[in-house]
Amino acid sequence: MNKIEHIGIAVKDLEESSLLYRKLLGCESYKTEVVDTEKVVTEFFKIGESKIELLQAISGQGPIASFIEKRGEGIHHIAFAVEDIIEEMARLRADGFQLLSDEPKKGADNKMVCFIHPKTTGGVLIELCQEIK
Ligand code: ZN
Repeated sequence: MNKIEHIGIAVKDLEESSLLYRKLLGCESYKTEVVDTEKVVTEFFKIGESKIELLQAISGQGPIASFIEKRGEGIHHIAFAVEDIIEEMARLRADGFQLLSDEPKKGADNKMVCFIHPKTTGGVLIELCQEIK
């Protein structure tokens, strides 16, 4: 894995949280994107090399909706950039990590992504992401 690509934060109200993060980080977001497969709308901020992804559930459904229901707003996942997601998935699967999908999926911000179940990573949801070239 190369670096932390972004940190995903689950929010109830994207408009409100977007204002908060603009104030906090002192910059504007660079992208807002709907990811239909995950039933979320995302907004990205870039500070230096690092990114923050705000995630709000669409129509009260999907993984972000159930996360907020159980645990409230807050850090949802840590995403690592990888060169070759297929290779990393095979390596991690062989090492006993439970991947949440058999194949990489199209994620937000021009990435192929795969998540690792938090029960095999000490309680932290991990996302692998590979830039689509
Ligand atoms: Zn993410």
